[in-house]
Amino acid sequence: MNKTCKLFILFFSFTLLYSCTNPNNKNNDLKFGIVIHGGAGTIEKQNYSNERIAEYYDKLNEALATGYSVLENGGSSIDAVEQTIMVLENSPLFNAGKGAVFTANGINELDAAIMDGSNLNAGAVAGITTIKNPIKLARKIMEKSKHVMLVGKGAEIFAAEQNLEIVDPSYFYTEERWQALQRIKEDEIKQKAKDESYLNNIYDYKFGTVGCAALDKNGNLAAGTSTGGMTNKKYGRVGDVPIIGAGTYANNNTCALSATGHGEFFIRNVVTHDISAMMEYKNITLNQAAEKVVMEKLVKQKGEGGVIGIDKNANITMTFNTTGMFRGFKTSDGKSEVKIFKE
Ligand code: ASP
Repeated sequence: MNKTCKLFILFFSFTLLYSCTNPNNKNNDLKFGIVIHGGAGTIEKQNYSNERIAEYYDKLNEALATGYSVLENGGSSIDAVEQTIMVLENSPLFNAGKGAVFTANGINELDAAIMDGSNLNAGAVAGITTIKNPIKLARKIMEKSKHVMLVGKGAEIFAAEQNLEIVDPSYFYTEERWQALQRIKEDEIKQKAKDESYLNNIYDYKFGTVGCAALDKNGNLAAGTSTGGMTNKKYGRVGDVPIIGAGTYANNNTCALSATGHGEFFIRNVVTHDISAMMEYKNITLNQAAEKVVMEKLVKQKGEGGVIGIDKNANITMTFNTTGMFRGFKTSDGKSEVKIFKE
């Protein structure tokens, strides 16, 4: 071997060794990505104007772009989830924050949760009426309190202590959601509660919950969900969204997930934790586990809804058993999609 050749081999070995051991290089090849939903339900093209459909696409794209740029710039999955959900909460198009549905008493009671898959920390909030961005409060509860879940007035006192933006409850009023409540109430008066078409209409009125799951360049997973719950909900009803393991779950060993649909079914089936547990104990893929829970277990029980999720290798699931789900994803390998209807 001549000298040049030896030198070349030496240089090559050194470069290889350096790139394997240099901590700054460790993230270069790691995949990252984000997936979102804006609710699942009886979502059919003929019920929407073209303008309205375009508005939905625009907002979903804006939310995805917001979260993706956080990840692309090396930000954490928790930051990406929080910022993405805030975009959707601030839009009247979705049943969360500004567009929240009304309770039977004609007010808006909001629920939200966030979870950090790197340490299994979580924060959740239920039944709040004056916090502009419930997802921000969920994160404060996770990071600045000793608790996982706060509800009602106490949660609002904590929010004020944390200097979160407080709004008058009238901020959450939207004419569309108000009219939806009036229609349900009229139907109730006509005692149509057992009629199949009435039940279908309930779904029309309630979907729009928002959620996000993300994987960052450091391999950390996070998930969050935010909602106004279900139109005409009564007696301080709390859905699956703020119940860790039901509507929201993240674990670096498996995946991060956010659910949407008829909350009572998602609570009883501990849906998001069930999917994660199946991946962990049965060693199946994210998509296989989501199919099992959403398309088999829930369908058998007539539990309508869906989940979005991302696993530790940036594989995505967007699985739903309804006619549509507002949804989208973007991953670092260049794949992305935004969809509303089943097709
Ligand atoms: N899961 C929410 C709840 O039951 C509603 C929805 O996702 O549309 O509160």
